[in-house]
Amino acid sequence: LRHVIVGNSAAGISAIEAIREYDKNSEVVIISDEAYQAYSRVFLPKYIAGEARFNDILMRGYTFYNDIGAKALLGQTVTEVIPKNNQVCLLSGEKISYDNLLIATGASPFLPKIPGIDKQGVKGFRTFEDACQIANFMKETDSIVIIGGGLVSLKAAEALSKGGVDVTVVVSSGNILSQRLDSVGASIIQKSMESKGIKLFLNCDVKVIKGYRSVQGVELTFGKSIECGIVIVAKGLRPNIGLVANTGMEIITGIKADCYQRTNIPNIFAAGDVAECYDLIEEKESLNQMWPNAVVQGRVAGANMAGGHVKSDGGIALNSGSFFGINIASVGKTKTKGNSYREVTTVSEDGNYRKIVIHEGRIVGTLLVGDISGIGMLHSLICQKKEVADFLTFLEMGQISFGHVLASLIGR
Ligand SMILES: Cc1cc2nc3c(=O)[nH]c(=O)nc-3n(C[C@H](O)[C@H](O)[C@H](O)COP(=O)(O)OP(=O)(O)OC[C@H]3O[C@@H](n4cnc5c(N)ncnc54)[C@H](O)[C@@H]3O)c2cc1C
Repeated sequence: LRHVIVGNSAAGISAIEAIREYDKNSEVVIISDEAYQAYSRVFLPKYIAGEARFNDILMRGYTFYNDIGAKALLGQTVTEVIPKNNQVCLLSGEKISYDNLLIATGASPFLPKIPGIDKQGVKGFRTFEDACQIANFMKETDSIVIIGGGLVSLKAAEALSKGGVDVTVVVSSGNILSQRLDSVGASIIQKSMESKGIKLFLNCDVKVIKGYRSVQGVELTFGKSIECGIVIVAKGLRPNIGLVANTGMEIITGIKADCYQRTNIPNIFAAGDVAECYDLIEEKESLNQMWPNAVVQGRVAGANMAGGHVKSDGGIALNSGSFFGINIASVGKTKTKGNSYREVTTVSEDGNYRKIVIHEGRIVGTLLVGDISGIGMLHSLICQKKEVADFLTFLEMGQISFGHVLASLIGR
């Protein structure tokens, strides 16, 4: 048998390791258009901040592929999948046959149609190559504009501000991290961000990116101009699905995959940021483009490619990390519409914010800003869909009784 994996990152590497747990002998080929050994994108901000070298962000050691018995074709782009021949085509013209194929091609930054977006110095922030180019541009400018207010935007802002440059973040919505945070939680981070010298413009967009060939500045929708030498565009992601166009593969926004990570085409699997899978809380397919989801999906896909019968319970939206010195953790549904949801929120005297979202007697989401202790238990309660009627009163008073939570988790 030959297992072919396209994409050498969180999902792809997890898949190889799972394949080898079930199948020591089959051929495994992993292909990536990036010419590097697998690394963690999560740590790219540390690289541009000068706090990590490439070696520090590698996912596995240099002998990984050899040790695990996989052939790595790095720096090779897959242009097309031909299911009827069980083959993938490389840009070089070479065709590689597979018995099982995993599409783990991740996602790429979405570049909106802003006039001037094609100028030199405008960058998405996704790859090691992007990080190197941003680090190089930084040597020639003392001002950077970041478009977008999501996780990647904020991580870039924090990293770049450490290099002593002026950083301005332009956000279309009314608060940062608007997909995950409400205005109360976001304002805590926004204050810290601004106290560190980062300029933040909410409720506006970049109207035009100015300059001749290279970026010289931007004009915002309300008329303000900002001089800058780099524009980082972090306005969301688009799954990398070009290689499966014309295959008849079912696409939502990403590739639709079932709880075994199978696509609608026999012997083709999909995992990670490219895949749209069942979401435990939304109870429908959803894109949950985060590292832990990619790892779990890659493991499930790998096991099933190698003859296992491993089922995923479904993904969940989650986010945790530290932004400008403030911890945040969010799991599941953190923003709701309609009367059927109850949101229990508290802000402590020392500024910690906590929100718990309850729906039909169960916790379906939580958002913690500042003190994130207890997130592990809340995560378990959400994923296990435990009834919380027993300790609803505590929750409504803004307290979480860990005794009750534990009892609920162990079923007493
Ligand atoms: C700056 C930054 C910070 C982040 N921070 C966090 C964080 O704190 N927490 C978190 O959970 N997540 C974070 N993420 C998101 C996380 O990195 C992704 O969810 C994760 O990398 C997804 O893994 P993946 O294997 O699905 O795809 P990817 O990591 O995108 O890898 C896919 C690979 O496939 C390759 N590929 C694509 N198309 C082809 C083709 N046609 N032929 C050959 N190869 C191809 C790509 O070049 C890439 O190497 C961050 C991302 C970035 C960019």
